[in-house]
Amino acid sequence: MTTSREVRLKSRPVGLPTAENFDLTTVTLPPLAQGEVQVRNDWMTVDPYMRGRMNDAKSYSPPFALGEAMHGGAVGRVIASEDPGFKVGDLVQSNYGWREAFNAHASMVQKLDPMGLPAQAFLGVAGMPGMTAYAGLLRVAALKEGDVVFVSAASGAVGSMVCQIAKLRGHKVIGSAGGADKVRFLKEELGVDEAIDYKAVPSLMKALEQAAPEGIDVYFENVGGEHLEAALNSARPFARFALCGMISMYNATTPPPGPRNIALAVGKQIRMEGFIVSSHYDLLQAFHHDLAEWHAAGKLKWKETVVEGIERAPEAFLKLFSGENFGKMLVKLS
Ligand code: NDP
Repeated sequence: MTTSREVRLKSRPVGLPTAENFDLTTVTLPPLAQGEVQVRNDWMTVDPYMRGRMNDAKSYSPPFALGEAMHGGAVGRVIASEDPGFKVGDLVQSNYGWREAFNAHASMVQKLDPMGLPAQAFLGVAGMPGMTAYAGLLRVAALKEGDVVFVSAASGAVGSMVCQIAKLRGHKVIGSAGGADKVRFLKEELGVDEAIDYKAVPSLMKALEQAAPEGIDVYFENVGGEHLEAALNSARPFARFALCGMISMYNATTPPPGPRNIALAVGKQIRMEGFIVSSHYDLLQAFHHDLAEWHAAGKLKWKETVVEGIERAPEAFLKLFSGENFGKMLVKLS
């Protein structure tokens, strides 16, 4: 008999979630049915989008159910199989995160080819966040020669990949992040041209004006609020904004006002396009191709913050909203 601990949604948060919103429960997995596999997760991811799923609100995907285990990306190993396509020891990824082990129909897990990367990279640089950066920058923002690129939450899982892709293609890149260590990483390791510590500057708008006196052509939006206002202010005519996320607003109890200078979008003829990565998986093969090339050339860099144990998954998740993660936030489960 395999037992598994899982994190369930106990109550829906109002504002910033707390430990009280989560429940840790131990379950015993039933015997496998024909066509099923049993998997022990090695890693699970916590992501900002999960905050939206905790609300009972209509969205692009349904909310987490109260009293049930939460979901999200995970990688692990098959520990038992009643499906001819899988054998014990196979490395797989799934959407059965927030739990140590699970049974699922074989169609719900995918075999993972690690491409020479550590398995957990498929929850970060090589997984959904990396793909978000790739699709958002190259397709949604339609990056083109000579563009000056501004990225917020630039040291994070998505942002750090945006910075690297833009640098690899020869662009001027300005990254914004919170704290001296993150800014140092952006400049010294990712090679961005200018890095702004938005927590330390008196005016983000002024800081961006100084970092990009010529203006910006692409804004990769991860944060919202003042970052969006600064980007509107610095945008050149026909700038493109890829609206990926607005984490500064995810815990707001009333919708924050602004951007106060949105009218600039008219005169500057800015194109703003929101996107959800799941609509762009037709680019997965191209992404993996480029990723393999960058990795082989030793050009790929990423950071991880690892918290150990399923019981600490809520804590890891909450750290995303105070910037206590540096790079991809992961939970190591075994
Ligand atoms: P990160 O690894 O970037 O972690 C979140 C970071 O956001 C924190 O480290 C912190 O960085 C920053 N942050 C948190 N709160 C605030 C705040 N109030 N103001 C400014 N910055 C804040 O997360 P991801 O890379 O996974 O996600 C980045 C963004 O991309 C999110 O908005 C997310 O929702 C979005 N996303 C969208 C997808 C899509 O399909 N559209 C898919 C995946 C992600 P710092 O210390 O620098 O402040």
